[in-house]
Amino acid sequence: MLNKKELKFDTLCVRESFDTVSTKSHVLPIYATSSFEFESIEQGMDIFTGKETGHVYSRYGNPTVDAVAQKIAQLEAFGDSQIEATAILCSSGMSAISTISIALLKAGDKILTQGNLYGGTTELFVKILQPLGIEIIMTDLSNLQKVNDILQKDDKFKVLYFETPSNPTMDCLDISGLCDIAKKCHIYTIIDNTFCTPLLQQPLRLGADFVIHSTTKYLNGHGNSIAGVIVGNNPDLMKTKVWQAMKLLGTNCNPFDAWLTNNGLKTLPLRMKAHCENAEKIALWLQKHPNVAHVNYPSLPSHRDHLIAKKQMSGYGGMLSFELKGGLSAGILAMNRFQLCTLAPTLGDVDTLVLHPASMSHLNIKKEIREQNGITDGLIRLSVGIENVEDIICDIEQAIH
Ligand code: PLP
Repeated sequence: MLNKKELKFDTLCVRESFDTVSTKSHVLPIYATSSFEFESIEQGMDIFTGKETGHVYSRYGNPTVDAVAQKIAQLEAFGDSQIEATAILCSSGMSAISTISIALLKAGDKILTQGNLYGGTTELFVKILQPLGIEIIMTDLSNLQKVNDILQKDDKFKVLYFETPSNPTMDCLDISGLCDIAKKCHIYTIIDNTFCTPLLQQPLRLGADFVIHSTTKYLNGHGNSIAGVIVGNNPDLMKTKVWQAMKLLGTNCNPFDAWLTNNGLKTLPLRMKAHCENAEKIALWLQKHPNVAHVNYPSLPSHRDHLIAKKQMSGYGGMLSFELKGGLSAGILAMNRFQLCTLAPTLGDVDTLVLHPASMSHLNIKKEIREQNGITDGLIRLSVGIENVEDIICDIEQAIH
């Protein structure tokens, strides 16, 4: 007979310890556990078969991860009670994109997308999905008539994938216009909402089926986690195909990164307000600078897609780019002169980050192709932070003088 009060020393070491005080934790706990205990075999079977809710194994779902996913789903649907948004947190933005792609597509299907996506997404589509038999067609998605003609003619198209604003020229696409066409053609729309966050733009409310984010960026905001999220407005599809793809590909988020994301989300509105205000002031200042040829920021009436941005965004975000008159040498010189702004290949953090696409993110892309997408030699991208704007302007001024 096992007497639990008389367990041996080494058994006591192995046994799990539990807090016996019942006071609830104020902050979301990190559930660093790979699996969950069942009270009985019957309960285990009920949870496995979905008769009872509960956790099984952290790759399938974890309380910390699921709580954060749920919060992001609420934010994406905020203001529209008709949208039944649910979300799945993944290990990175790229894993969110690969999971949703594998969930929705099979060999023989086609994706319609734009040429100026985030580089990692283009590479995933061309180097991983295309060899699996999924065809990637890139076109100018700002031409709605052309998009309609392409999709109407070919029922192999299953997904329309895009991001707006796009990197680094901040081109904006008409979300509701594109979603209407996709709906008519019975194809899914997936929108990368990383640059805006649900505070500034809510694609589900404009007709999208799925939103993805690299939460690594603004949703976390502090540059200390890598994660991504898929938000969908069809709970059945999310619970079946999308969850199954996440579970079997093993693209689940870990609880610590989910927890860091949750910390960031708490200040999202405050941070985004400061990012937007600073970016607007810097864009207006840059526009008047004699060494600057042009500025790409969607709030500016001179921006090609200003009216689209105005229609669908409630703020213009923290990302902007500007073209130096001196070309490549001026771009490189400026990059080496920055003292406050950090040279780093990410975006959306609280501090200001600078990138020179021609010598950094787009170094391996042919000059003609780069330039077709507005990525000229003197272009500098700024992820404007929430520092005092006068300090940021001072640093830019001494870097580009
Ligand atoms: N989408 C956009 C717009 C991005 O900028 C990035 C990364 O820079 C990603 C997706 C990929 O995200 P992650 O680095 O979290 O995988």
